[in-house]
Amino acid sequence: MKSMVTVKEALDLILSSVHTFDPVETLLQDANGRTLSEDIFSPHDIPGYPQSSMDGYAFAFEEGRNQYQIVGEVAAGSDQFFILEAGKAVRIFTGAAVPQGADTVLMQEKASVENEILIFSDGAIKRGDNLRAVGSEILKGSKALAKGDILNPARIGFLAGIGIDRVRCYRRPKVSILVTGNELQEIGQPLTYGQVYDSNSWTLRACLEIIGISQITRIKSADDISQLSTSLNEAMENSDLILMTGGVSVGDYDYTLRIFEACGVTQHLHKIKQKPGKPLLFGTKNKKAVFGLPGNPASVLTCFYEYVLPTIGKMMNQDISLKRQTVPIADEHVKVAGLTHFLKGVYDGQVVKLQKGQESYKLSSFSTANCLVVLPEDATRINKGDLVEIHLIP
Ligand code: AMP
Ligand code: MG
Repeated sequence: MKSMVTVKEALDLILSSVHTFDPVETLLQDANGRTLSEDIFSPHDIPGYPQSSMDGYAFAFEEGRNQYQIVGEVAAGSDQFFILEAGKAVRIFTGAAVPQGADTVLMQEKASVENEILIFSDGAIKRGDNLRAVGSEILKGSKALAKGDILNPARIGFLAGIGIDRVRCYRRPKVSILVTGNELQEIGQPLTYGQVYDSNSWTLRACLEIIGISQITRIKSADDISQLSTSLNEAMENSDLILMTGGVSVGDYDYTLRIFEACGVTQHLHKIKQKPGKPLLFGTKNKKAVFGLPGNPASVLTCFYEYVLPTIGKMMNQDISLKRQTVPIADEHVKVAGLTHFLKGVYDGQVVKLQKGQESYKLSSFSTANCLVVLPEDATRINKGDLVEIHLIP
């Protein structure tokens, strides 16, 4: 197991021990946000028939003619099959099949009708106007979406429109959140002396929900070796990813390291040269990833954004890490060398300002931040106007 590694080494180490899931066939209704594992080809010409794009009149266009005899009507969804003779027109509606023989649709706003005769004066009309040709959206057999594409509302709708009801893609992980600590109280209950409300499980649940993860189990355990072991084993049975919080430091009741051993979790990493989040512990067992996150709420969230999010991304074959940007800083800042600092900041599109209250027990400054400001391990002094890396919080 590695200890006191750099931020970059830690992320590399974690990602190299995490597996991408095998792709699975997924119903379209469950596929939003997932990455396709295969190209998708259209099973149909779309549209499958020549389609009117307007409410109006369809006919075979003849140069110079501006009167046509109306002989019928075709509504959207009608399956009647017409063959239209020269000089004849049909009343037609958006989405309806343009009769065979017709090649042009005149929009009704430009038409006048007298005694079943369509009359128009608009010389701007051309052959083919307002008609969607067969296969003009996509031809049967041509590629609709590519392997690696991430499904979004437009792509889901596009697939539905060509009649695809299932796709092969990468699933999302099932996650267990295991919060530890004798001091933890449930929200909604009175807080007695020495207790704190569990906030970590709420923060983590919210983080997971934002990326579409819904299979989330929450377990709370006291600082008790046997209860902790039972809880971690249960979590590993039910989940792909286990997020423990608390108990990774050096206190007498910090049992997480021992619990990893007891449950047969291979430890890859303990402690990173960073602040907050230094005590992070990471291990795996049978392709399950287990994070021993710190207990302090701001450390938990920082570690989620910096390490857990990329881990979930690797499982889902998708880059969901926070977006990075290099921007000037508005304040000067002094730090000691040796640790990378992740500070809560507000980026206004021009400069980033550091928030007050950077201590790891505080979420108040996180709750008004829109980015993490990354100050390098070896930096000691940051001057106003220096360029710094920020990670944007979605
Ligand atoms: P620990 O690493 O277990 O010593 O916890 C560090 C700090 O985080 C302590 O102040 C804990 O009370 C606090 N803490 C631990 N777990 C939680 C939690 N689930 N929600 C809020 N605070 C917590
Ligand atoms: Mg604790």
